[in-house]
Parts: sequence; C-alpha cells; structure tokens
Amino acid sequence: MGMPSYTPQDAAVPDGIIVIERGSSPQALGPKFNRTAADVVRFLLTNGEMVTATQSLSDEMIELFADELGAEIELVDPGQEQEVELQKVLDIPDDEDIEHDDLPERAPVITVMGHVDHGKTKLLDRIRNANVVAGEAGGITQHIGAYQVIHGGRPITFLDTPGHEAFTAMRARGADATDVVVLVVAADDGVMPQTVEAIQHAKAAEVPIVVAINKIDRENADPQRVLSQLADNGLVPESWGGDTMVCEVSALQSIGIDELLDNLLVVAEVEDLRSSPKGRATGVVLEAHLDVGRGPVATVLVQRGTLKVGDPLVAGPAWGRVRALINDLGQQIREAGPSTPVQVLGLSDVAASGDNFVVAPDERKAKSVAETRERWQRDARRGRDASVIAGGARLEDIFEQIQTGESSTLNLIVKADVHGSLEALIESLRKLERPEVKIGVVLRGVGGITESDIQLAETSNATVIGFNVRPDRRVRDFAASEGVEIRTYEVIYKLLEDVEAAMLGMLAPEYEEIVTGDAEVREIFRVPRVGAIAGCYVLNGKITRNSKVRFIREGTVIWNGEIDSLRRFKEDVREVAAGYECGIGLSDFQDLRDGDIIETFELREIPRV
Ligand code: GDP
Repeated sequence: MGMPSYTPQDAAVPDGIIVIERGSSPQALGPKFNRTAADVVRFLLTNGEMVTATQSLSDEMIELFADELGAEIELVDPGQEQEVELQKVLDIPDDEDIEHDDLPERAPVITVMGHVDHGKTKLLDRIRNANVVAGEAGGITQHIGAYQVIHGGRPITFLDTPGHEAFTAMRARGADATDVVVLVVAADDGVMPQTVEAIQHAKAAEVPIVVAINKIDRENADPQRVLSQLADNGLVPESWGGDTMVCEVSALQSIGIDELLDNLLVVAEVEDLRSSPKGRATGVVLEAHLDVGRGPVATVLVQRGTLKVGDPLVAGPAWGRVRALINDLGQQIREAGPSTPVQVLGLSDVAASGDNFVVAPDERKAKSVAETRERWQRDARRGRDASVIAGGARLEDIFEQIQTGESSTLNLIVKADVHGSLEALIESLRKLERPEVKIGVVLRGVGGITESDIQLAETSNATVIGFNVRPDRRVRDFAASEGVEIRTYEVIYKLLEDVEAAMLGMLAPEYEEIVTGDAEVREIFRVPRVGAIAGCYVLNGKITRNSKVRFIREGTVIWNGEIDSLRRFKEDVREVAAGYECGIGLSDFQDLRDGDIIETFELREIPRV
C-alpha cells in the first residue's frame, strides 16, 4: 500500500492503459494521471528519490508512481507517443477478446543464429531443399526473406536472414517475429564470440533456444566440448539434465536435420502458439526493396488475421492496396494466414524491416496514417542531418582528429542491399560510438552506390560504406577523381571491425581488389545434374577459370564464389578474353538471369603508410 506520508489527491486516474514516454519529467507525468508535478516530486521524495519538476525520470520511477495510483501504463520511446495516438485511427485488431485455447494453432517462426561460418546459411538451404513440398505446381524456390516447410505434416516458418544483427534490429523496432532460435555451433570450432552474443540476444528476448551442433561430419568435430561450452554459457543440455535441446547435425551431409525439425515442433508445442486467421491482418515487415520492374516489394510475416489481395495496407510510412501476394515458391496467392511469409506488391514506398504492418479499416485511413508518418520522419531527418554534416571526418582521418583531443564525428554514407541489413548495420555502428567520436550517418539507403552518393560524400567529407552493394566502374572512377573513399563489405562484423580499428588508429592493411574482367549473362542453360550454365559475353578484361567471382544484378551483389567450369564450344578453357562468348558454370548458384553481370577479381594487399 501507499506510503503513509504521501496522500494522493482524490481525482480519478484515467481509465485504460496510459501511454507514457520514457524519460518524462514530473511536469509531463503528473497531468497524465490527473496529478500535479508537485505530487510526483513529493511521492518520489518519500521513496528516497530527490528530483526536480523538469528532470527526466527513470523507467523505475515512472512505474513506481503508476503502481502507487493503481494505473496501468505503457512506456514508449520518446516521440512514440504521437505514434500510439496515430495508431488509434487504424483500430488495430488483436486476439485479446478470444480465449487462448479457442484460437487455432499457428506455425512456429524460427530464426537461425550463430557465429560466422558455422553453417547457418547451409543449414537454412538444407532444410528448405529437403522439405520443399514435392510436386508443388510450378514452384521454384524464391529467396523472399523467409520460407515455410512442412515437417511431419506440420508447417514451420524460417526467417532467411540468419544472424543476430537482423534479429536485434527487428527487436529494437518493437517487432518480435521469432518464436524459437536455432543456435548453430560448429562442432570443430565450438562456442565463439558471436555464439555468445546470439545466446544473450535470444535470452534478452526470452525466446527459447534449440542448439544445432553442426559439421559433425568433420574429422576434428568435438561435440562433447561444445556441450560443456554451452553449459558454461547457461545452456545446459538435456542429456546433462538441463533443459536445452541439442541435436548434432551436418548441414553438408544432411545428417540430423529431421531430428532438429522434430525438436523445433516439440518446443513450438510447449510454447502453445496460437493466432486467429479471422479478420484484418497484422504482422511485421521482414525485408523490403525497390524492384525495377515491380516497384516497392515487401516481404511480410502475417502474425494474425488473413492478408488478402485488395486489402488496404499500412507499413511504416508506406501504404497501398495489395496488388499481388507472392509466396516463397514464386506463386501468386490470393491470401496468407498467420505465420505465413509473403511478398506484397502494390505499396507506395519501400517499408523498413521491423515495421509493423496492419490492414486498415479503409484506404483513406491507410493513406492518412502513412502520410503522417512520412512527414514525421522527414522532419526528424532534417533535424539530425544538420548536425551530422557539420565538421565530420573520414574513416582514414578520424584517428588524427581524436588525437588532437577534439571530439569528432565520423561521417558515413551507408548503402546496403536490403533494409534489414541496413538497419542492423546502423544499429551496430551506433554501438561503436564513444564520447570522443560520434558516428554521423549522412545518408542511408538501399541499393547500389551511385554518383550522387559520391557527390554527397565529397561535400560532407564522408566515407561511403557498401554492404553487399558495389559501385560500377563509372562510379568507382568518379570516386577516385573526387578523392572519396569507398569501402565495400559482405560481412557485418568485418565492417564493424574496420570502423572500430579506424577509431583506434589501427586500420589494418587494406586489400585492393583488382577487377580482372566482367561478362554479361546472355542466356541460361539448365543441365541435368550440373545445374545452371550461364552463356556469357565477356565485356572487359578476361575471365579466368580459377578467379573469384561475384554476380551483380542492378548494382547489388547477389552471389559470391568461384567459377566451377569455363568453356568455349564444349572445350574446357583456362581463360576467355573480351569480345568472346563462353559458358560459365557455378555449382552453388542457380538463380541466374539474363543481364546479370559476372565480375571476376583478385585481391592485392596495399600496405598502409
Ligand atoms: P554462415 O556464415 O554461418 O552462414 O556459414 P555458411 O553456411 O556459409 O557455411 C560456412 C562454410 O561451412 C561453408 O563453406 C559451408 O559449406 C561449410 N559447412 C556448412 N555446414 C557444414 C557441415 O555440416 N559440414 C561441413 N564439413 N561443412 C559445412
């Protein structure tokens, strides 16, 4: 009960959940409860907290005060209160009025996490390929950011962006899409830093973990050692009397995959996941990009209700009538129920991953909510950018600036292939900030690196960072002439390492990439048992059999690897020069299209001076 020295006034506290921004002052807080700032200050004083009327309060203090009045509150981030108000327009449906047991079961949604190279991608591919519904009419698997498989007659949904960066970025935006985490640990390598991070993130989100000890086919695999490392990190295996399910798998040799899926279903059963397929759909955006032919494309995960073609949908600042729904087999479908991932066409704009979506009561409401959000975002950006562009430094020079004792801003232009990675990157970059060096994101965007990015980098003294995107030859030359540094990465942690190293003045010798040739895909042949062969025309330089290659589609890197075979007229050849045609085979990569560019390159180290 209340403290004897504190007597709240008699005025009634408003009914229902009261929305309060984190860090509110007593002056802002009091009136929310029909109280004065002085009431708040006095109450906190009796609880040993001395605050002024304009001071920002901790979550605990706010909760303490609400508890005292018996009020139910929802704490939201600053600036979110207006968003909560706005959402009232949408009258967001939920299942709260329905008895949980009366709701139908839904498929569990799985995220795969673990250290780099421990086999997350391979495992996701393996699960998918082994469980594609056989004979599905005309279905060819599409990477849309998530997929669903049927195991033991039951559906399981996998999010296709492995790693905890995407997971955390989603959570940071208030989207909890994942029901179970599969933690991949390589049996030969054991628990590594990113494994530990993944465990922490899953625990913080209170998401159950199923461990897959991968690569047990390897000679130096040591699953026992992994078990004890897991136990050291709070995951005590069932076989040791704990409650963590662990399976030994080989994604490469397809061992143990069924057991893993069995375990996932067991955990799902315990979690008792249910949701109503009735009514307007709500859910979360997993991935979004701009497609040259189709306009903005968003992959969403339906969490409740059924999403239908023709529905007026709002996702962040984007809205539109659903023009088409495409499933993970590339098929057009009419509707999608709970736990189904589906691509949505027809939105006005590229939504961001982690944005919640909802089908609005009508088109007018969808439009007005989206447009209001867009205006807010524009205003917020304007405020931020001004501080960023003034007096920043580049990656190369940042250490010098720090050394002079001044606080400095490292200006970056960040471009990535998809929204998910972009948000994850920015999020992770922010964590590197220290008092003496801030990170200023001058521009962030999805898509290839363009001349206008270089121009902006030049005027704002920024370094351009590309994640899974690359500049073409023209842009590269332009950057060189303007003295703008472009750094491209395909692994987030490498990127973060470099930025951190720059802050510490320890940027490692850089590898310069020498592009040795490029070819354009003109035609695709499918050869049974071999896979796809790309009929190509070599545009520049030469294509050499053993060189590294990457595939570029509309400025975005879609695949990295090595050439499997190189042929001219059925003859295996070592190299093919510009102006000639050739056939290039790649065992691992099948998703070729006309017009893709195949670029070959070598790495050469440039020592730092
Ligand atoms: P990720 O970074 O966690 O997504 O790792 P990848 O899926 O890209 O796998 C990294 C490397 O490990 C690749 O060369 C895979 O072929 C290999 N790999 C993955 N799973 C296995 C496995 O079960 N056994 C063996 N021997 N190699 C594997």
